[in-house]
Amino acid sequence: MHHFVYRENELYAEDVPIKKIAEAVGTPFYLYSHATLKRHFHTFNDAFQGIYPLVCYSAKANTSLAILKLFSDLGGGLDIVSGGELYRGLKAGFSSDKIVYSGIGKRVDEIDYALSSKILMFNIESLEELELIDKRAGILKMKAPIALRVNPDVDPKTHPYISTGLKKNKFGLDIQSAIEGYKAANRLQNVRIIGIDCHIGSQITEAKPFEDALQSLINLKNEIEKFGIKIKYLDMGGGLGIVYEDESPLHPSEYAKTIAALLKDTSFQLILEPGRVIVGNAGILVTRVLYRKSGLKKKFVITDAGMNDLIRPSLYDAFHAVQPVVKTEETQIVADVVGPICETGDFLAMDRKISDVKKDDLLAVMSAGAYGFAMASNYCSRPKLAEVMVKDNQFHVIRARQQYSDLMEGESIPSFIQG
Ligand SMILES: *Cc1c(COP(=O)(O)O)cnc(C)c1O
Repeated sequence: MHHFVYRENELYAEDVPIKKIAEAVGTPFYLYSHATLKRHFHTFNDAFQGIYPLVCYSAKANTSLAILKLFSDLGGGLDIVSGGELYRGLKAGFSSDKIVYSGIGKRVDEIDYALSSKILMFNIESLEELELIDKRAGILKMKAPIALRVNPDVDPKTHPYISTGLKKNKFGLDIQSAIEGYKAANRLQNVRIIGIDCHIGSQITEAKPFEDALQSLINLKNEIEKFGIKIKYLDMGGGLGIVYEDESPLHPSEYAKTIAALLKDTSFQLILEPGRVIVGNAGILVTRVLYRKSGLKKKFVITDAGMNDLIRPSLYDAFHAVQPVVKTEETQIVADVVGPICETGDFLAMDRKISDVKKDDLLAVMSAGAYGFAMASNYCSRPKLAEVMVKDNQFHVIRARQQYSDLMEGESIPSFIQG
């Protein structure tokens, strides 16, 4: 459920006609609904009634300051994967003891930054990382709170690029290595073992992979408790899927029920790292039709948003519904909706049945709140697009569209080039 709905024939975001925002802000832009963001956070959080999980919103899905601030105000924690996300998270007001740090490639400066910020937990992904974190904590005269990220080898049945918990994936430690890792960590002076972590993939629509992963985490916990290791936190990661087209993902309440059933005889504090399920359907991309043309085989609708603005179709072959902002035309056509970038992979939709749009019409690319702006780039020297948030009948530009001068920030020409 979201708040992008037609009234008569015109698409609104909450109580604001999207056309009006496009006139004020120009195109393309991302548009988020405050009510939807808030609702999704509460729906997810409240599904776990009685378990009181720490919901650490996964920053990388959408890392915009206003969105982070909204979730920190709602009492959420934060899952980060870089020093930059830690910086943003602290600026947005997250308390550091609600921040968990995942990722396979943490640098020394990032580890030091997280240690001195006193985050809740490092989710460690290799034995070398464990050694380094122990060493840095020693130098800073601290004890680093840690979990090991386990790769439980379950098939999340999702796109290969977003499955992370298979043997062949680069993430985490297999169960046997994790047992060795926990033993090794137990001998180190400067780490404190507090958790077990996993994250098996993204856009997961079934309960089974989560169930299997959780069961192997519980088994692992029982195994390592034999060595006197006490586990307080169990971090299930993120990965719950959403509806893009015709998927039927399990609802947060079913997800919660699945987890609760397995946890009923344990005494973990549960941590969850949802990203997509919270922000995905709370945002859309609004773009304008620049031109139409017909090739020998296909019709093309050329928009002012391209793969640098929304890369998911190009990168994952992802489906995003494309809808007219103002419905004027009954006739439907089949067309490729493509961006202006000089790459064949630059498309928003392929062979798509859409209404017969005209030059200058506005299109809404739906379900673009997660991994949309967060993955935007300046490819082809295209300024990054604006982001707007709607609340009731007001809207606010939460990120200004980049100017041409922003494109050269930090660049300089060396004297040996200036002749
Ligand atoms: C990306 C990521 C998440 C969020 O995944 P979603 O599918 O967006 O819920 C959570 N935890 C980790 C470690 C991640 O890398």
